[in-house]
Amino acid sequence: MTATFPEQQRASATAAFGRFSPHQALHIFDRTADSGHEPGVVEVAPRTWWIQPGMVNVALFETDEGLLLVDCGCAGDGPALVETVRRLSDKPLRAVVYTHAHSDHAFGLWAFLEAGEIPEVYAHRNLPDHLRRYQRTSDLNGRINGQRRDTEGRTWFRDDDQVVWPTVLFDDRLELTLGGETFVLHHGKGETDDATWVWAPQRRTIAAGDLVTGYLPNAGNPKKVQRYAEEWADAADAMAALRPAVVVPGHGDPVTDEAAIADELAAMARYLRIIVDHAIAGLNAGVLPDEIVATLEIPAELRDHPRLAPLYDQPEFICRNVIRRYSGWWDGYPSHLLPSSQDEQAAEVARLAGGVEVLLARVDELAATGRPDDLRLACHLAEWAFLADRSDPAAQACYRDTFERRAQQHPGLMAQVNLRTSAAWVARAEKENHR
Ligand SMILES: [Zn+2]
Repeated sequence: MTATFPEQQRASATAAFGRFSPHQALHIFDRTADSGHEPGVVEVAPRTWWIQPGMVNVALFETDEGLLLVDCGCAGDGPALVETVRRLSDKPLRAVVYTHAHSDHAFGLWAFLEAGEIPEVYAHRNLPDHLRRYQRTSDLNGRINGQRRDTEGRTWFRDDDQVVWPTVLFDDRLELTLGGETFVLHHGKGETDDATWVWAPQRRTIAAGDLVTGYLPNAGNPKKVQRYAEEWADAADAMAALRPAVVVPGHGDPVTDEAAIADELAAMARYLRIIVDHAIAGLNAGVLPDEIVATLEIPAELRDHPRLAPLYDQPEFICRNVIRRYSGWWDGYPSHLLPSSQDEQAAEVARLAGGVEVLLARVDELAATGRPDDLRLACHLAEWAFLADRSDPAAQACYRDTFERRAQQHPGLMAQVNLRTSAAWVARAEKENHR
């Protein structure tokens, strides 16, 4: 994996971040944290709009009887969304669909209620459980998503009144009629088990939520709960079968080219199934997880597909996620079953090498070759050096800098932020030193 995208992937990657605000991203449940951007609006079909208040998209459908809104953004997107919707239509908000319970999709509705709207709120039956899990693991989720505390000391969704709870739950499929028009809510599984995508047959439009994002599906996130690569591929097939002319994705630009949509959905399904099939074949053949991942190969036309860039996740992580789903947590190495601590192992490696400084010198040699495989190996040595002596300033610098170089070789956000964990460990060790 290199840091350079093909040009088309770069354009898609830039679009995917939307109207991003770093402040909002750190305060995603704060109703006062707006994106600071004017919402983007595109009429993608008659009386049908793509709205992008910040990092995430919303779909608005106007009928004679009232409005259907699919998703409602982050908590802080609410007021700007109300204003934008009101500029586009004076019809009442009759129905809202949550495509899933993620922080950037389902938390802006409060502003519509405060403005006097009383919509029915539709969601898949698993969505309330998703919210309950968030509440139970609120601090964990705040930490792994890098959230800052609000005035009540919360970093994540915790209190019932932070969300407008759904009023109608459905299982596989629900037909909703508004203004004499039918909208079909379909359950899917992908990034989450509570996903919904909406089909408006008369407008040949799909509001896809995060089942379509314009980059490689986020189906392997290293620190998150199980993702569903197989069902994600199934959802892509189900959408493609309807031959949509418009897709409003969960992030990034709307897609209004029928052939491009068909191509993207087919490529996405194929990409995911290649990973799933490889993982399951490896498990069946008794191959250990590390080797299954190391032998995964993605055809060039999928790897370089303009709408499937590994901008957020990457195929290796998706493969790990499939392996986890179908097998246990053990990686198969007997010493790893009930291991010595990493600190003990590192101290012993440093002792055998002849000291932490010998490890550091070898890191320099490996890093100097410029080969990605050598830098990857250097990361192990740098980690051993740091864990063997966390108070050694040279080991600290080496640990931080070697992983920073490694992070820069990966285009995917999940690889970058998690590789950079070494810098946080060093910061903590430096603090300890100065006590
Ligand atoms: Zn999202």
